[in-house]
This record gives sequence, structure tokens and C-alpha cells, in this order.
Amino acid sequence: MAMLLRGADTARVLTERMKGEAAALSARGIVPTLAILRVGEREDDLSYERGAMKRCEQVGIAVRRFLLPSSVTQEKLLETVDSINADPEIDGCLIFRPLPGHLDDGQVRARLLPAKDVDGITDGSMSAVYSGSGQGFSPCTAQACVEILKNSGISLSGKRVTVVGRSLVIGRPAAMLLLAEHATVTICHTRTQNLPAVCREAEILIAAAGKAGVIGRESAAPGQIVLDVGIHMGEDGRLCGDVRFDEVEPVVKAITPVPGGVGAVTTSVLAGHVIEAALASRGRTFAGRP
Ligand code: NAP
Repeated sequence: MAMLLRGADTARVLTERMKGEAAALSARGIVPTLAILRVGEREDDLSYERGAMKRCEQVGIAVRRFLLPSSVTQEKLLETVDSINADPEIDGCLIFRPLPGHLDDGQVRARLLPAKDVDGITDGSMSAVYSGSGQGFSPCTAQACVEILKNSGISLSGKRVTVVGRSLVIGRPAAMLLLAEHATVTICHTRTQNLPAVCREAEILIAAAGKAGVIGRESAAPGQIVLDVGIHMGEDGRLCGDVRFDEVEPVVKAITPVPGGVGAVTTSVLAGHVIEAALASRGRTFAGRP
């Protein structure tokens, strides 16, 4: 039976540390503040928003919501981003994407100040992830993968890690963050030949394909650690991941559940970025923070 890597365990550790940091800021009269910018009412956005607000409340981060109708114009959306950029009380901004089709995502991303880009969507943040400069924020879900592994005491140095998925939101940045931890990383995608064989070679397998159940018994190997990033509504109305849990769990050494795995850590990473942004805008850092 595999060890379950529960996101709540990692989230608890991160949250406790951040509570102390937020309290220290608060003692100096600074309330770290997150702006949430949502266009429309997509159910998955609303669900993530609820999770993010709950986490921020636990930590001591204020949240200000900017809610726009799905018919909003590009001009109005950019004006809203400008007002968030200009507000000194706002430390970080989460913009829900994808945006409705009539809006220009590239323009919106380019407009957000990199210093407030706590979800790692601007080119500045991306280049920081790829250069390893540490100047900028990583996409939260990609970083959540690394946080779960570290918090579970799983060393990455020299490990063979396979990431299934090459999106700019998860697969690629996760691969870069793992590389920065000295893992030997393979990235797979839809043109990868013999995916199961490549997956079986990995000591750590990260499934971020966005396809329910694409990783099954044939892709698993004994001793493996499996992180399932996918979130899907199954035909039975229950949440499931990219990994066929029932097939893979009996084979591997450790695995994240869905729900309750990577997703549970993402909001903690987001909250951590808001605190870092608040610290950076006041020109201070906490000793000991990585
Ligand atoms: P995405 O943009 O659709 O990218 C999926 C990637 O997987 C693509 O690179 C694609 O390859 C690859 N892929 C798809 N099917 C494949 C297959 N059969 N074999 C090999 N590679 C395959 O998805 P995403 O935005 O990265 O999201 C991935 C998943 O994470 C989704 O299920 C999403 O709901 C979930 N998610 C979770 C969280 C969380 O907090 N846990 C947060 C955000 C998203 P190509 O490039 O060749 O097309």
C-alpha cells in the first residue's frame, strides 16, 4: 500500500510559518493584501477563489475582489489592472484565466506589474523561473509540486523525474523548478513516443496532462513517487485526477490523492507569494525564509 502524500500536511506547515510572518507584518501596521480579479463566474474559478480566500483568512492576508462581467471590454479590464497596480495597499494580484475569448490575454498579462504577479503569469516571472534568478514568482501549482516533495522529505537531487505535460502554467515551470533542485528531468507531451515506458523510468512521476486517467498501471513502477496534478469531474460526479488511482496506488511507493493532493497546497503557495510581495515592497525579508 502506497504512502498517501496529503496536501493538507504540506499546507499546514506552510500556513503555520506564514501566520507568524503575517503577524510580524501586522505588528508593523502592514496588512498583506491580495487582489482577486475575476471575469465572469466559471465554476472552477469560483471554487479556487473560495479556497484562496479561506487560506488568506487563516494566514492573516486581506483579500479585495474585483469582479467583472464576462461581457467586460478589454479597456475596462486593463483599467482595473491599472488600478490594482497603482494601489499601494495591494501587494499581489491573482487574475483568473482563461479569460473570455473576446479578451486579449497577452495584453492583460503584460499590464500587470511583475512585483504584484503572485501567480507567475507575466513574462518577467516566467523568465525568472527559467533563468533561476529568483526575481519573480513561480506559477503556484508548479511550485506546489516541489513543496509537497520537499515537505515529505523526498530529496530531488539527482533523481529521475518525468513531468507529463508542457503547459506554461504547470508542466514547463514545474520542470524548471525541479531542475533547480538538481533533478534530472524529462518532459512528456502528446507527441512523446511510448509514454508508459518513459513514465516507468522515472523515480518521481508528475502527471499534469489535463486528461482524466491518462496514467494507469502500465505507466507505474514499484518504488515510484507519483504526484497527480490533474483535476477532473468524473462520470460518477466525483473529482478525479490524471492518474487511475486504483491501478497505480498498489504499485508505487507514494502518491498524492485527488482531491486533497497538489491542489490543497496551491493556495498556500499563493499566500506565501503575497507575503513575499508585501515584504519586498517594504524592502525587508525574514531571516530563514527560503
Ligand atoms: P493543458 O494546458 O491542457 O496542458 C496539458 C499538457 O499535457 C500539454 O502539454 C499536453 O501536450 C499534455 N498532454 C495532454 N494529453 C496528453 C497525453 N495523452 N500524453 C502526454 N501528454 C499529454 O493543461 P494545464 O493547464 O497544464 O493543466 C493540467 C491539469 O492540471 C488539468 O487537469 C488542470 O485542471 C489541473 N490543474 C490543477 C491545479 C491544482 O491546483 N492542482 C491547478 C491548475 C490546473 P501538448 O503540449 O502536446 O498538447
